[in-house]
Amino acid sequence: MDNWDLTSLQRVLEETVQNTIGEAEKGQVPSYIPELARQEKRRLGVSVCLKDGSVFSAGDAHLPFTLQSISKTFSLMVALCEHGERYVFERVGKEPTGDPFNSIIKLETIKPHKPLNPMINAGAIAVAGMIPGGSVEERLEKIMRLLRKMTGNPDLRVNDEMYQSEKQTADRNRALAYFLKDSRILDGDVEETLDLYFRHCSIEVTTVEVARLAAILAADGYDIASKEQLFPREVARICKTFMVTCGMYNASGEFAIDVGIPAKSGVAGGIMAAVPQRMGLGVFGPALDDKGNSVAGVKLLQKLSDLWDLSIF
Ligand code: GLN
Repeated sequence: MDNWDLTSLQRVLEETVQNTIGEAEKGQVPSYIPELARQEKRRLGVSVCLKDGSVFSAGDAHLPFTLQSISKTFSLMVALCEHGERYVFERVGKEPTGDPFNSIIKLETIKPHKPLNPMINAGAIAVAGMIPGGSVEERLEKIMRLLRKMTGNPDLRVNDEMYQSEKQTADRNRALAYFLKDSRILDGDVEETLDLYFRHCSIEVTTVEVARLAAILAADGYDIASKEQLFPREVARICKTFMVTCGMYNASGEFAIDVGIPAKSGVAGGIMAAVPQRMGLGVFGPALDDKGNSVAGVKLLQKLSDLWDLSIF
């Protein structure tokens, strides 16, 4: 269904939010980052960005939240653009783990000790280590510049309270990073690379912006708003493939069957879903399931996928 009747599209979004928001009761807001634990559970927002760049939203679409793991897609993009595939995949793998996103176990048991993929925390920290620059600010700016262009929001910023909150409680991520340093996957200053990672996870967005990011991925890097190719098709293809195989952590297989859209979730409750050549979706629902994905957000995407036949499989 690509000849959108735009009034019915808007109505479908509103109705679907209304009859899905109750799912939030089944989840919990995460407690391991204090600032995330303060989020209100019963929230649900969605935005859809169509091929022509028009955006439709319903529910809590204008509430700001932080990208968290969704940002891993864009740090990977910057690393691939700066260094090329060979360099990046010498330091991080291409396989799903079947373990929680912050697990440390396979880092030690698999040889060589490189993280299995760039969507788990260990892999994303390794990728952060690849972003070049003279200071953390300069390195962060490379990611921010890309995201500002993609979202069309020149004021995109890091939520400082979230960044500080994660930084003060990130012993697990610190353990991963020092292990990577010991294994020679990370070089340079570990604390600086962690700082970059915490900051890019704390970039604040709304579902409207996430839908725009997804729409550009769906269009293989082409941005209809600026009429520019923002990154190579090949980079878009790699990112979308990781979104299918590892984007929803160790629920990626189930999500591929139930929803069938390349997607990346974050622990603040966001999901970015890119339907190739058709649309981008941004979803926000802070109550998470035990794998760390938005409960109501996944359900909402499942309903829209069924209704509009969005599965790529
Ligand atoms: N900043 C979060 C962390 O490192 C990101 C994880 C996530 O969104 N799953 O724990």
